[in-house]
Amino acid sequence: GDKVSTVRKGMEELNNLVLKLVDIIMQLAPFGVYGLIGKTFATLGYTAMLPLLKYFIGVIIVLLLHYLITYQSLLIFVAKYNPIKFLKKFSGPMMVAFSTSSSSATLPSSMETMQDEFGVSKTISSFTLPLGSTINMDGTAIMQGVATIFIAQIYGVNLTMGDFVTVIITATLASIGTAGVPGVGVIMLGMVLQQVGLPLEGMALVMGIDRFVDMFRTTVNITGDAVCTLIVARTEGELKGEEVAASVKKNKLA
Ligand code: ASP
Repeated sequence: GDKVSTVRKGMEELNNLVLKLVDIIMQLAPFGVYGLIGKTFATLGYTAMLPLLKYFIGVIIVLLLHYLITYQSLLIFVAKYNPIKFLKKFSGPMMVAFSTSSSSATLPSSMETMQDEFGVSKTISSFTLPLGSTINMDGTAIMQGVATIFIAQIYGVNLTMGDFVTVIITATLASIGTAGVPGVGVIMLGMVLQQVGLPLEGMALVMGIDRFVDMFRTTVNITGDAVCTLIVARTEGELKGEEVAASVKKNKLA
């Protein structure tokens, strides 16, 4: 309240400052990505390009399958929501996630879309979305799994069935610990590599193209949060069709 207005104002200003810094970094990011990729190919040569391309395509295929199979069936069978309508309404936050590679930076856009377009109440969306953007990183877990197998192949290490189980468990845990900002997923990959005895230097192999992979996995991460939000809204009786969504919107405006 008023008693601590200076502290509150200080916090708000600090928040503005951080947002501005993120903004500046985002503008510089393309040059940084160019530098990182340039370094990867300058040191590894063109021979690195084909395996890296295979890794990139591998991650994209698994992310796509996750979206098409897991999310779409959750939408259809649990949230009882038309996936095409979902995609149309949620494309805005997806584009924000794709361009910023940050679940946290996408949070305001997701919250607004969930409340205004889908008619989910603030009570639900302000709980599920921030929680999801902090701990639900399934796209990141997928990348870490594929990257571990790619690095094992490059180093000629054969992973056993037990190693695969370890990768699944540690990638899930590492993704929960990943912050919703660009590039953290690849740092947390170190944890997974260590668990199966792979050299940490392997991270450098995928780091050069990680910015591109990050764009796709962040989009999957925030889409998962939105699907879960819809499921919660449905089970709480908030989504009874489009009319309900509209009436909630009216109430909110009133
Ligand atoms: N950029 C991802 C996110 O914000 C995290 C990561 O995998 O690096 O969701």
